[in-house]
Amino acid sequence: MVDPHAAYDEQNIFAKILRGEIPCNKVFEDEFALAFHDINPQSPHHILVIPKGAFVSFDDFTAHASDAEIAGFIRAVGMVARDAGVVDSGYRLLANIGKDAHQEVPHLHVHILAGRPLGPMLA
Ligand code: 5GP
Repeated sequence: MVDPHAAYDEQNIFAKILRGEIPCNKVFEDEFALAFHDINPQSPHHILVIPKGAFVSFDDFTAHASDAEIAGFIRAVGMVARDAGVVDSGYRLLANIGKDAHQEVPHLHVHILAGRPLGPMLA
């Protein structure tokens, strides 16, 4: 089995955003995570939260990241949702991982979707 961590593509678009090589509409940043608006929003609030480390997927992240990185990333997702003001009306967290889930960008990211009724899970 291929280790996704070993296959991390340093040229993926979110790696470039993390390095500041291309811009993003940032809403949050700390030592563990960066959050920014999705370029093609699927709901009134559509924010992506990414860990700062080079992780492809959730399984890669939880296998290789430190406890501090894991805690920091998950905490960031919650903080971003709170700061976006979507907690009362509700929101959806979504992570597409791998081929069958149609992961487009091979750097772990969590979508925060909110601001309209999102319908039942899932396609
Ligand atoms: P995935 O299908 O991998 O879960 O979703 C990738 C997401 O990244 C998509 O919702 C897409 O609109 C978003 N995206 C792709 N390229 C860029 C970019 O350059 N900037 C931003 N802000 N979002 C992007």
